[in-house]
Amino acid sequence: MKLVIATTNEGKIAEISSGLAGLGWEFVDLRNIRVTLPPENAASYEENAALKACFVAAQTRMPALADDSGLEVMALLGAPGIYSARFGNKDNDLERNIHLLEKMRGVTDRRAKFITALVLAYPDGFLEVYRGEVEGQILLGPRGSEGFGYDPLFMPDGLNHTFGELPLKDKQSISHRGRALQALRMAHKNGPPSRQTIKVS
Ligand code: IMP
Repeated sequence: MKLVIATTNEGKIAEISSGLAGLGWEFVDLRNIRVTLPPENAASYEENAALKACFVAAQTRMPALADDSGLEVMALLGAPGIYSARFGNKDNDLERNIHLLEKMRGVTDRRAKFITALVLAYPDGFLEVYRGEVEGQILLGPRGSEGFGYDPLFMPDGLNHTFGELPLKDKQSISHRGRALQALRMAHKNGPPSRQTIKVS
């Protein structure tokens, strides 16, 4: 199957293509296909991922996989959450990380979690939805230069390294995205999952 990874984010593309390796799928992504994604203006990760995946599947007439992710900080009442890509109106990872550290100056409860929703949309409108989460802490300063986004500030529970200090394979084995990808892999391990119709009365 030829699958469009519906993003231009190189970090996501690397993690998704390695997480789905071995399924026999061929990947293309939006660095090579000219599709402008719709605005992510829905109220949940799943809806935002569905907006992107459906749009790209309809435009390309190929199955499309979209990822919508966010970081939820307990002391900030779940912010930045679905607005993680626009946190503080900053337009790059470094500035968003500085903004997060400023927001958390003096805060002792550093608990946070990362969430990923993956939506695989087929051109006929059928959707598969997967979610992964990981809990951890926001450190007082960045550590490591691997990964992307908020990775250098996030230390998952049970580890002494931030995601920014972990090679891709190690991050993948415990991360929000790695878990969502694993759920997708499991669903496809014997070929495409059966299509169930859910009746809403
Ligand atoms: P979106 O899913 O494209 O809306 O991105 C959400 C925001 O969270 C972006 O600023 C990303 O850089 C960041 N982000 C998404 N996934 C990760 C991750 O795995 N690690 C660190 N930051 C991430």
